[in-house]
Amino acid sequence: MTLSRRAVLATGLAATAAPRVWAKPRLEYALKPRQVADGLWMLEGSTEYFTFENGGNIVNVAFAETDAGAVIFDSGPSRRYAEELRKLVSEMVPRGIAAVVNSHHHPDHFLGNQVFTDKPIHALEETKAQVALHGDGYADNMYRLVGDWMRGTEAVPPNTVLSSNDLTIGGRSFSAVPLGGHTQADLMILDRATGTALTGDLAFLDRTPTTPDADLPRWRESLDYIASLEPKGIVPGHGPFDTEGRSLVQTRAYLDWLDGALTDAAEDGLDMVEAMRIDMPDEFAALGAQPQEFERSVSHLFGEYERAALPEVN
Ligand SMILES: [Zn+2]
Repeated sequence: MTLSRRAVLATGLAATAAPRVWAKPRLEYALKPRQVADGLWMLEGSTEYFTFENGGNIVNVAFAETDAGAVIFDSGPSRRYAEELRKLVSEMVPRGIAAVVNSHHHPDHFLGNQVFTDKPIHALEETKAQVALHGDGYADNMYRLVGDWMRGTEAVPPNTVLSSNDLTIGGRSFSAVPLGGHTQADLMILDRATGTALTGDLAFLDRTPTTPDADLPRWRESLDYIASLEPKGIVPGHGPFDTEGRSLVQTRAYLDWLDGALTDAAEDGLDMVEAMRIDMPDEFAALGAQPQEFERSVSHLFGEYERAALPEVN
């Protein structure tokens, strides 16, 4: 039976008719692994800032095949991401997943952990402590930034604290080096078989380094250390695979410029808003996520530079 509009109105059905349901777009990351070395794959995120359009997929994740299954480096920004990651890796690596490693406590690197709680999730002790402390706040903030992509995501700390510089899984041997400077604890992994460094956010390429927890002198020391290893390839925390060490040079150059620019701005008496507007060299203005990341850095760091520029009072 088809009711005319008039008949519908007459019977009062219009008021109770079900609202039209629009098909929701399906949210999918469509992860595409790229092999970067023997038995080592990288999933490259966007170099943008977090947006609903990228769903928080701005981070690099990698996995290495071993005789015991895959070792996954960083678990991504959301439960949804990690579910796709787990499915993809399980299909590609015959023995499935052996373990996960968290490079540091920033949300895009660990918020997929809840999908891997049946596996060892290795990290430095301080990373575990920082996730326990800040994880819920990070997850809330990510919901605000990328919305429905985060549905069901909860912050789960790593469950296995690294106690040695050697991490051997399924016959594949990795150096696990505790460094810092991007955050309080940054784990660098060197895949000994291929000479590939997985730097976490100690190295960025073509994407602005982030500094909410940065200690710039320590970060530079960590970059020097990684360079001294002369890695054959680098999976940076953000940006493309690097076979020439560009990520180390570029990250170092940006941190040096940032340090000098904020020192000058504070000594010239600029306020924070004025400091956010200073001229940036083209090479840094061209990096992904500018000017947002520079402005965030000023808001995190400038207070310290202002204090340092104050005349000493005797
Ligand atoms: Zn980070």
